[in-house]
Amino acid sequence: MRARNQDKDQLQHHGIGMTSQRTRERLIERLYEEGLSNPRVLEVIRRTPRHLFVDEALAHRAYEDTALPIGHNQTISQPYMVGRMTELLLADGPLDKVLEIGTGSGYQTSVLSQLVERVFSVERIQALQERAKERLLELNLRNVVFRWGDGWEGWPALAPYNGIIVTAAAADVPQALLDQLAPGGRLVIPVGAGDEQQLLLIVREEQGFTRHVLDAVRFVPLLHGPLA
Ligand code: SAH
Repeated sequence: MRARNQDKDQLQHHGIGMTSQRTRERLIERLYEEGLSNPRVLEVIRRTPRHLFVDEALAHRAYEDTALPIGHNQTISQPYMVGRMTELLLADGPLDKVLEIGTGSGYQTSVLSQLVERVFSVERIQALQERAKERLLELNLRNVVFRWGDGWEGWPALAPYNGIIVTAAAADVPQALLDQLAPGGRLVIPVGAGDEQQLLLIVREEQGFTRHVLDAVRFVPLLHGPLA
């Protein structure tokens, strides 16, 4: 019996090795080659178990640099895009309060939570949010507060934020998010529809906003209203 359990342990260990250890290293190398350069961001992606954020049936693909389905017609973001957006948020130094719109699986949330003081994360699909909450607790990431609601409105009660990240594509930049940005604060958001989306970085200056148009991207749409 004991021997059998040992075999099983080894098997499981081996299994995890196959789906995560070496493939995780390969993912980090690939992200570096693709241009991610913030060592802290790469290290956090390396140690975040992405396979826990997808269905078991997809766990073997968790360390591919690709978006994967998480149910409810939504996807877990591609690791490159998670890293890219996180680097853009952090490019001007450490951040205290970050608002995230589109919790989804909670993967981007957990990466962020290891790099900033506090994360406030809004999701419109309650079932996704509940599952994401559980995952972050399992990983003992406790500096995140969740809200079920409509990200178009941001989270005004706790504003302003030093950083805001949106992980679904908005037709236009939501005015509420601009309003909730602290002076010097940074908003990273995909804007556009279908094939015509661009990643924007918007920085709040003393007077007005500076808008940088960055990469062509592909995100699920930022929809309206909460969904039970
Ligand atoms: N960053 C997530 C990706 C989620 S996909 C991850 O890594 O898993 C985009 C998410 O945005 C989906 O969960 C979707 O339900 C959510 N979303 C879309 N419109 C929204 C809105 N108006 N308010 C809040 N969340 C929204």
